Order: sequence, then structure tokens, then C-alpha cells
Amino acid sequence: MNFTGANILSVEQFNRDSIEQVFQVADRMLPYARRQKRTRVLDGAILGNLFFEPSTRTRVSFGTAFNLLGGEVRETTGMESSALAKGESLYDTARVLSSYSDVIAMRHPKSGSVAEFAEGSRVPVINGGDGANEHPTQALLDLYTIKKELAYHGHGIDGMHICMMGDLKFGRTVHSLSRLLALYDNIRFTLISPRELMMPDSVMNALEKAGHQIMVTDQVSGSSDADIVYQTRIQQERFTSPAEADQYRGKFRLNSDIYTKHYKPNTVIMHPLPRDSRAEANELDNDLNQNPNLAIFRQADNGVLIRMALFALTLGVADQVEKYECEVNWYSDKRNV
Ligand code: ASP
Repeated sequence: MNFTGANILSVEQFNRDSIEQVFQVADRMLPYARRQKRTRVLDGAILGNLFFEPSTRTRVSFGTAFNLLGGEVRETTGMESSALAKGESLYDTARVLSSYSDVIAMRHPKSGSVAEFAEGSRVPVINGGDGANEHPTQALLDLYTIKKELAYHGHGIDGMHICMMGDLKFGRTVHSLSRLLALYDNIRFTLISPRELMMPDSVMNALEKAGHQIMVTDQVSGSSDADIVYQTRIQQERFTSPAEADQYRGKFRLNSDIYTKHYKPNTVIMHPLPRDSRAEANELDNDLNQNPNLAIFRQADNGVLIRMALFALTLGVADQVEKYECEVNWYSDKRNV
């Protein structure tokens, strides 16, 4: 795949080679993220970080990734503070804002909106989540995390067993991750959700067509040999009312007891975050915080590396990152991680 100048809108753009290309650049980003070195490769470049839907992690991690490469970040958050609230089209917004930036990261509540925006943009656009549709950068960082965590236990992605749990209907991260995993061989998917929140048929059909095994259930069962358990949040914002979402909250919890009973000792625990820690939901209990298999914070750290890699690739500087290296003068504990 030729990344320079490309939009990153969907996981459908990737194949195994292009995924590997992103991962190799992401690996090279570690010393900068750990503050062992700095790079000024994007000195003078501007990221337009447009988040028209709530986000902390994704928005800050896009901004941090760009800053770590030496670039400047301009933030726009919330629909109500933008001209979209005055009826401006996505096309017009894109035409204008793309002349103020070198690359744009965007999140929007409507499916397909980021692709529509990209049509009016003169700079690369990276999808930071469009409604319940896709979240390609999250899928890449999830896959990168899976690869690293499984490598630690001596195996690879092909042939693994992943258990996805919770709101599989509206959770865009599981849609995008499943479509990326479809590119690998012989994966077993156990999909645990209330019947009303099952994985969309389009995603399941794509997995079946690619020859993977799927088990759909509304019970926490059949997961005792899972390599990964990927927990999700009930996506309250996509339901017609909070009361409707309440019916499902807390149905599929993961805590230390459930983990020990249903999973093998090394099953890696993932969650795209934020986890809903309110008592009525508590989908991923704090009693797992000290469990070494809890990969959620490593997953969030990997997000910065993946987003750095995507910026370096789409702006055509991936091979120059080391050339613009300099020293870090200040104290940082991250260097010892
Ligand atoms: N942060 C993820 C997303 O934006 C997951 C979530 O919100 O539950 O889709």
C-alpha cells in the first residue's frame, strides 16, 4: 500500500503486508514515546484534531503522537462549537479546515461521515471513529497489542481463539478488529452478547467467508481455551434512550472470580477503554488490576505508537524519523519502563 497522502478511513484498505508495514514503523517509535530520544521530523507540520463526539484517549493519543514527532496540534471538540451546528456541510468544513492543516484526524457520530469529509479534504484524513461503523486506528492498535502479547506467550495470531464480549452490535472497535483478523488464518471467535446486541451479520459473514470458526452465545461459556478476552462497554450513546441501555448494563462482567473460573491462566484481557466502572456496569472489575494478563494500559500505550506510525507514513517521513533525532534533556521515568 502506498501510504503517502492516503486517507485512513477503513480497515478494508489493509492487507497483511500493509499491516506489517505499520507495525514495523510503530516498533521504531518506542524510544520517542519512552522519552529516550526526540525527533523533530514533523517540525512545522499541523494536525487538525477534529472530535465531534466525546473522546479522551483517542483524541489525546492522536495529539500526543503528532507532538512526539515534532508537530503542532489544533483541536476542535464538540459539534455545538463548530460551524456544523449552523448547517455547514462536511464537504465545506473539510475544504476550509484542510487548508489550515497538513493532516486531519476526525471523529464524528454518524457512520460514513469521515469518508464524506475526506472527499472535501486536500490533506490526508484519518478516521478516529465514525458512529457505530469503524475505528480503524483502534483496530490496528488492538491487533498490534494482540501480536505482542501472544508473542510473549510464544505464539502468533494465526490459529488463535478470541472471545469478544458485551455490546458487539454498536461497538465499532470489535467490528473493525474482526475485519482485520479476517485477514489471518483459522481464528476461532467466541462472540458473547445479549441476543439484541449480537455482532452484525455483515461482520459475521465476512469472518465465515474467510474460513474462520464462529460461536455465538449469550452465556459466558466455551472460552476456557481463549487466548484473548476482549471486553466492551455498552455503547449507551447509540441507544434510543439511556433506559434501553440500562437493560444490558452489567450483564457480562469480568472480574477475578469469573476470569479464574472461565479462562485459562494466561488469557490476555483487553478492552478498548473507557471501561464503565459504575457499580451497575462494572464490566471489567478493578480486582483484575494487578493481574499481569490485563493488557488494557499496554493497549492504550500502543495507541500512541500506531498513530505515530500512521502520521509518519501518510506524511511520507517514515524513513526520516531517526535522521531528525535529538536528545531529551529532562528527567523522565518512562525511560526505565
Ligand atoms: N473508545 C472506544 C470507541 O471510541 C470504545 C468505547 O467508547 O467504548 O469506540
